[in-house]
Amino acid sequence: MERLDASTRLKVDVMFEGIRYSEALGNAVEHALPNYYPYRFKPDEPNPTGKPQVAIPYLIRTPDGTMIRVKGNGESDWVVEGDKAAGYRLRNATAGDDIEIRFEPMPEWMRGQTSDGFPMAQAGVSLHSDMMVINVAPGCEYFLHKHDGESMRCRFCSYGAPDERTAHLGQVAGQLAIPAITLSRMQETVTAALGETPIRHIYLVGGSLTDWREEGERFLQLARAVKEINRENVPVTLGSGALPDDLLQQFHDEALVDNVCFNLEVWSEPLFAKVCPGKNRYVGYDRWIASLETAVSLWGRGRVYSAMVAGIELEPEHEMDWLQAADLCIAGAEDLCSRGIIPIYSLYWPIGGKNHPDYMSRLRSFFERLNIAYAGIREKNGLVISDKFMCHRCAYMQLECDIDRNHEDAA
Ligand code: SF4
Repeated sequence: MERLDASTRLKVDVMFEGIRYSEALGNAVEHALPNYYPYRFKPDEPNPTGKPQVAIPYLIRTPDGTMIRVKGNGESDWVVEGDKAAGYRLRNATAGDDIEIRFEPMPEWMRGQTSDGFPMAQAGVSLHSDMMVINVAPGCEYFLHKHDGESMRCRFCSYGAPDERTAHLGQVAGQLAIPAITLSRMQETVTAALGETPIRHIYLVGGSLTDWREEGERFLQLARAVKEINRENVPVTLGSGALPDDLLQQFHDEALVDNVCFNLEVWSEPLFAKVCPGKNRYVGYDRWIASLETAVSLWGRGRVYSAMVAGIELEPEHEMDWLQAADLCIAGAEDLCSRGIIPIYSLYWPIGGKNHPDYMSRLRSFFERLNIAYAGIREKNGLVISDKFMCHRCAYMQLECDIDRNHEDAA
């Protein structure tokens, strides 16, 4: 494959260029899943709302099922028109595109309550289309530790800070076990969600603990609670950090999960030490990869994954141009795939000052080069991203599933 197919290219265009505000986009939030990031109007941008920022939808789907995350951008040529009754279209007058779209809907259960009156929307369950993410202990201990004045949190991470989101889930720093009430609310919420929309993958995630054995024990507790109510056997992925071998064996023996995904985040030990100081200190680069290899020996090739933060290499402190950064990632993909480990490259989306055209242009060149080369590496190694892990319907910041699907269609 030398270039992206038309469907994947459209996804990349909209991911990078974003969508300009329109009343149709703003009104859609009444029925669509809301975005975590509000739309922020530029000072000189036409603003019919009179507010500096407004809520917008999170995800759009094109007619072939491709999922794209919505990024607000007042300078974009992409605009949404239409309404819920007549349907929506994504138009780009400059490029001459006019595409039918749907917004990922807000599910009913998110407005519901558990039997003890707790809002299901806060029970630690979220959706990316047909992927359910369960995160009942999001607070990450790496945020609480410093060495030589340096925080142990991963440099790109803004979501693991123990704060009010962890308080309502009953998470207390230093307390290993997940409270029983948190688990029972999660179980009720998962049951309601499974009954409402087709869910094809369940992904268990959570903040890290400085003791990887304790982290594994917490995930065992979570996975057992999910298994109790997962009567349709929706495939489950263990999204913890790397874990000791005997705990992996335990997950396998109890048939608690179908896949594992321990996020190495970046390739090369020096970069790992800089970008993920907590993972490096409390687990270590070699142990992380060894744990992934143990997982391959237990679950098999095609069932072991590692999410990567694609593009953090372009941060100035790492002193790489986009080509060097892409080639480093490609070398990492070659190595991991040769071990039967499948990396998944999620676009690292710089927020704030770096969001200028030159940076985004380099990031895009990097991301395209990496994804085109990586498709060949998967093929060479006979590795396929399992439908039990993720698919094109839920991959909103990744391209692998779109490329493989369109590649197969074209073959
Ligand atoms: S391990 Fe890293 S990415 Fe994960 S929650 Fe902690 S700081 Fe964030």
